[in-house]
Amino acid sequence: MDCWVVTGAGAGGVRCDLHQQQCDGSESSGGDSDAPPAPPDCSSLSIHRDTGMLREAAATPHQDQPQTKPLAPEAFRPSRAAVAMGDNVSAAFQKKVQNKIKDLLQQMEEGLKTADPHDFSTYTGWTGIALLYLQLHRASHEATHLQRALDYVKRTMRILNGRKVTFLCGDAGPLAVGVVVYHKLNNTADSQDCLSRLLQLQGSVLAPDSEMPDELLYGRAGYLYALLYVNKEIGADTVDESTITKVVMAIVESGKNMSAEQKKTDRCPLLYEWHKKQYIGAAHGLAGIYYMLMQARQTEWLHPLPGAKVHPDLLAQLIRPSIDYVRHKRFRSWNFPSSLSNESDRLVHWCHGAPGVVHMLIMAHKVFKEEKYLKEAAECAEVIWQRGLLRKGYGICHGTAGNGYAFLSLYKLTQEKKYLYRACKFAEWCLDYGTHGCRIPDRPYSLFEGTTCMAGAVYYLSEVEKPEASCFPAFEI
Ligand SMILES: [Zn+2]
Repeated sequence: MDCWVVTGAGAGGVRCDLHQQQCDGSESSGGDSDAPPAPPDCSSLSIHRDTGMLREAAATPHQDQPQTKPLAPEAFRPSRAAVAMGDNVSAAFQKKVQNKIKDLLQQMEEGLKTADPHDFSTYTGWTGIALLYLQLHRASHEATHLQRALDYVKRTMRILNGRKVTFLCGDAGPLAVGVVVYHKLNNTADSQDCLSRLLQLQGSVLAPDSEMPDELLYGRAGYLYALLYVNKEIGADTVDESTITKVVMAIVESGKNMSAEQKKTDRCPLLYEWHKKQYIGAAHGLAGIYYMLMQARQTEWLHPLPGAKVHPDLLAQLIRPSIDYVRHKRFRSWNFPSSLSNESDRLVHWCHGAPGVVHMLIMAHKVFKEEKYLKEAAECAEVIWQRGLLRKGYGICHGTAGNGYAFLSLYKLTQEKKYLYRACKFAEWCLDYGTHGCRIPDRPYSLFEGTTCMAGAVYYLSEVEKPEASCFPAFEI
């Protein structure tokens, strides 16, 4: 079995050709002013139009000579320096990745000395770094990585502020990561303390008069992820199913109410807004919420709580038609709009566009066993292959690393080697970190956001070593 992988310094390098234009700002929302980091309304961060097109492998990578023909799917072929190494990434490529990870970690640790001491978030702050070290520990089993994760968890525990409840931007992230890190170190008391504090947050999540949104970054879906993450890492009963069910039902009720309000009960029975806009993407929108609800499907929430007026088949009656509604909003290019009211085919990010929606489609295929979902996920992957190398950064939210996860997820699902190849090509872009003329960094060492997003690049690189075990951070269970 042949497998195409990238070897050698810059071998078969991928290039992007970005035509920077001012964003019209039409998707910008006010964000959330009391969040510790600047509000990651990802669309408002998108001040440049992404038209980075993946080219055929150049003999000398990253030269600036113009190439105008994007790599069409039918033109796919392995790079000139590719080698056949069975079904795994080659040892030479792995070695290169490992060396780069060491190099970037050194730079990151040095840079973190001047990072915002109060930013505890997973998205841009200390919990994101702790999560990175947990991932490195998972990959290497090196005890020092777990110790570093502990160092950063301890730092976050001193600065939690109770303002937000999500894994990415609120207290639930540091607390959930704390539960896991302390558990791995056999510190039961501190793990339990983090867990009880995590569970206390449900009060504001479930409050009936709550103004809380439902999306992933600031809303209920972001709290639900924290609960599911703890159960996955430690055991299915760590967070009891009734708690998870209550959170799921709060999300479902909120979506039903919005759908009724907008008179869309027939077409899209679960509808959500964030800052008065019906976003589609993974970070703030429908795709991220449906994806999280589907991931919770193994729990008892499919069956209504005693006395609850919930249809026993929520998946089929509510989630599936809502997913189909979103599917029909895609552009002719196979990319997706950032919101239901936006007709600009501009953003190819995990937060807005096909790289986020693809995960919803993959999960829909797993749940509903229908080929149409897989077919459209594969079409998303073509858009990402052609337009997904982003000069705005290497990170996970709106960067090349986050887009590369589409290929890893499709490879895990289909075992098609072209997806592994493409994941490696996006990793190769990250290996040449800092040489693509990306924008001046604001939070350069963060996991999700920040134009160079060093932790995000390292996280993604560590996944490519073992693609079968890859798992999109703060999103995939
Ligand atoms: Zn983003």
